[in-house]
Amino acid sequence: MDRRNFLKAAAIACTAAIPAKDLKANEKFKIDEDRVGVLVDTTICIGCRNCEWACKKAHNLSTEPLEKYSNREVFENKRRPNNKALTVVNQFYNPKNSQLPIDVKVQCMHCDEPACVSACIVHAITKHKEGPVTWDSTMCIGCRYCMVACPFQIPAFEYDKALQPKIMKCDFCIDRQKEGKLPACVEICPTETLTFGKRKDLIEIARDRIKRKPNRYSNHILGEHEVGGTSWLYLAGQDFSKLDFPKLVSDPAPGVTESIQHGIFAYFIPPIALYALLGGIMWINKNKSGEE
Ligand code: SF4
Ligand code: SF4
Ligand code: SF4
Repeated sequence: MDRRNFLKAAAIACTAAIPAKDLKANEKFKIDEDRVGVLVDTTICIGCRNCEWACKKAHNLSTEPLEKYSNREVFENKRRPNNKALTVVNQFYNPKNSQLPIDVKVQCMHCDEPACVSACIVHAITKHKEGPVTWDSTMCIGCRYCMVACPFQIPAFEYDKALQPKIMKCDFCIDRQKEGKLPACVEICPTETLTFGKRKDLIEIARDRIKRKPNRYSNHILGEHEVGGTSWLYLAGQDFSKLDFPKLVSDPAPGVTESIQHGIFAYFIPPIALYALLGGIMWINKNKSGEE
């Protein structure tokens, strides 16, 4: 099929009258009680950025130049995970001790009810019952709904790749976990800022730390309730909003994204048309190289 015929077929598909209400959003998430997570204790982190390096190494991303990892100037700007770094560490002023900045590692939170999964119309993102949220390149059509939906602004897009760009985000080192290994960042962390384990046990550990050192910690485990709970959990010595975390309610974000998506589908464009158009864009992109 050439491009013209494809677009013609897409146009026919656009007129197909499939009622939007017949299309269901992703199934309700089924998660194990024993699902795993990581507790990030920001009061211990020293900002060495070994985790950034190990994450890149584990995912075949460039770790060069090596000397950059000891360069403290990087903390002058607040960074976000991107297509070249699935996790980054940022530094914040510590009101309790100005000589001792607060270092905060950022990556996908592996939400229990992920908005990115709900927003993805082709089910290219999966919440595994064991905890991780992963992305499948063979399913993704590059619509970037997941980027818009994520309450933590995590998924990144390879804008610099003209052909078959990927959505990039922390995959919780799922392949390493299947081999019985720790996530690369957890394994390398020299201060045990990162504790890997069953989420329910991590919550107990976090509560215990808060109870034993109430002056050290604020009484809040970030991720215990936010957006329905997340696999990655955080402890800090001050309000998380001061550490660039968004203020979130405990309602799962998918409820919001599903409403938005269904609203679009019901009043603007039928899903089959959206599939056809997005599929067309993907088809054209994939065939671009053949014409050049
Ligand atoms: S943090 Fe964002 S990208 Fe990660 S699982 Fe949650 S919604 Fe998805
Ligand atoms: S769990 Fe794996 S992918 Fe996620 S930040 Fe750590 S090293 Fe990177
Ligand atoms: S490796 Fe550990 S101590 Fe070093 S920056 Fe990462 S989380 Fe912090």
